[in-house]
Amino acid sequence: MVRFDKVTKSYGAYVVLDQLDLDIASGEKVAIIGPSGSGKTTVLRMLMTLERINGGVIWVDGEPLTSMPRDNGLVPADARHLRRMRGKIGMVFQHFNLFPHMTALKNCMEAPCTVLNLSKAEAEARGRELLAMVGLGDKLNHYPAQLSGGQQQRVAIARALAMRPKVMLFDEVTSALDPELVGEVLNVIRKLGSELDLTMLMVTHQMGFAKEFADRVCFFYGGRICEQGPPEKIFGSPENERTRQFLSAVL
Ligand code: ATP
Repeated sequence: MVRFDKVTKSYGAYVVLDQLDLDIASGEKVAIIGPSGSGKTTVLRMLMTLERINGGVIWVDGEPLTSMPRDNGLVPADARHLRRMRGKIGMVFQHFNLFPHMTALKNCMEAPCTVLNLSKAEAEARGRELLAMVGLGDKLNHYPAQLSGGQQQRVAIARALAMRPKVMLFDEVTSALDPELVGEVLNVIRKLGSELDLTMLMVTHQMGFAKEFADRVCFFYGGRICEQGPPEKIFGSPENERTRQFLSAVL
């Protein structure tokens, strides 16, 4: 579903992703862990086309993300291709980034109406259903300021799902939350994982959650995947010295 093929990203001379190869199957749940600055968030930002890559190709759902095939090669994608590809990916950020002047329901309706051209009634039905799914069926008309951090984050998850993405990206979605609110957000993600056929890629510092939730854990170091495997292998018997050092510092 998602493939990074020798993807390089640099800022000036500073290489953040170094010829990264990463293949994620449809429906797979992948946790990305690693030290600060190792390039974890950059992987998600590249997938959201928030930044340009400097080399390699990212494939999503069988198509190149930011380029199009032409004359036996690839050329930069046009706006239509980018819009279509972006629609396949939803992202939830650390800081919920909700529209403050819109209710929870309106937050979920905005993009489906403006980007997907859904009717107001269709977008509202979808928003209601998703807010109920994340346990906020009774908060439809609350504004973000009237919701707790955990509730706001659950609205952000419903809002991303309202675009019916094939791939969901979660970037340290519990880092900005008070500890007692972390569980409710992780429970919602766990529920989505079991109920929806979504490919999920999650940058997380919650090792316990990564262990329980992910099919595969990728340990990043210096813009590369240093070690990857099933959670029981990475957390139980890591082979690489850097993985061992990192885990002994955070666990
Ligand atoms: P953290 O766990 O602290 O969030 P991370 O592994 O997610 O770290 P990234 O956010 O992917 O790290 O950043 C990787 C490196 O790229 C960092 O050293 C960061 O300073 C650098 N970087 C990110 N964005 C920019 C930018 N716009 N300009 C220059 N350097 C950048």
